[in-house]
Amino acid sequence: RVKTKWAGSLPKYPPTNLALQHFDATYKLQLGREWPSVRASMLCEQKYGALVNNFATTEGFMAHLQSQGCQDFVSCTVREGAQERLQTAASTHGNTSSLESVVDDQDIVPSGLSPNIKCLVFPRGDISRFKPSRPDKYGLLGYYLMDAASILPALALDVQEGHTVLDLCAAPGGKALALLQTQAIRFLCVNDISASRTLRLRRVLDRYVPKGLLAGDKLRITSFDGRKWGEIERDTFDRVLVDVPCTTDRHSVMEEENNIFNRARTKERQRLPQLQLELLLAGIQAACPGGVVLYSTCSLSQLQNWYVVDRAIHLAREELGISLQVADLRPLTQLFKDTFNFAPDLNLGQLVLPHLTANFGPIYMCKLQRLN
Ligand code: SAM
Repeated sequence: RVKTKWAGSLPKYPPTNLALQHFDATYKLQLGREWPSVRASMLCEQKYGALVNNFATTEGFMAHLQSQGCQDFVSCTVREGAQERLQTAASTHGNTSSLESVVDDQDIVPSGLSPNIKCLVFPRGDISRFKPSRPDKYGLLGYYLMDAASILPALALDVQEGHTVLDLCAAPGGKALALLQTQAIRFLCVNDISASRTLRLRRVLDRYVPKGLLAGDKLRITSFDGRKWGEIERDTFDRVLVDVPCTTDRHSVMEEENNIFNRARTKERQRLPQLQLELLLAGIQAACPGGVVLYSTCSLSQLQNWYVVDRAIHLAREELGISLQVADLRPLTQLFKDTFNFAPDLNLGQLVLPHLTANFGPIYMCKLQRLN
């Protein structure tokens, strides 16, 4: 445990206060009447999801958590959607027995959503906590606790069988772990500029993924400056995740340690949108023509979200000769609207807004497809 600081050594301007002041000034304008509710939610305990580790023995804890009311929000939602479609088909064709017989997990998952990514959550409004996961007989942990909304970028990336995938800013590894759960990836490269965070990423992978998968030619762990990726490996990956460093809004209003609103880090914070833009442009260059790039942050900031994406689309076209199409993520948000509280009518991308009854996020994501 970290000792609480003596009053005399407490900072004059606690970073959490500075963060709140900053957010009050900017997000009130951006979110209008929604802001007080989002603000209150970010100041309350965050709700976690348990990403199920398909590489571990899962039956025991899955049954236990399900008996406590937890559900895999991915398959549950998809199944309910399929049932609705069956009912619609029934009202159109009369008899559903022939339709039901062909509906299994593979059939009911809409195109692009891996049936293997599973994330358990307590029901809406239920704020129970998960216990830390325990190792199975092979030493692998059964689930990874993370903001359940962080699964959405991994789902939206739409990994298909045989794909090569780059996770440009991967540490500590939650989304990389979600991507590995698809068991569809031919080759995954996980990168993070920070040596200490890359070590954390390596430890996470060691505790969740069998050794055989970590060795060999299926997975590569690197520690490059992601901004340089365009110079290293261009036009290569089917899928690229660009989960950039950001103001991590929830952390910034709750934790004094490692807070980007610390006065000593003002310049670093102000440079974030430029860093994000350079990382996204590098990710776009790393993707192959026809490939998909998913940009995400855990901030509500328009400047770090749609503005960065908008600039990147413009610069990719003007300076790199790469045309991009923005993918429509509304089918995904429509599917998960009962689990997450999505911001209405964003120009570019989708945003999960924290809400007291569904206290996930903030998570912003925008999906781009390279046309050439
Ligand atoms: N995707 C991770 C996950 O799901 O666990 C979280 C990534 S975190 C939001 C952003 C990461 O970007 C940090 O680990 C940070 O070290 C890394 N980063 C910052 N600047 C970078 C750069 N220039 N190149 C690559 N990674 C960078």
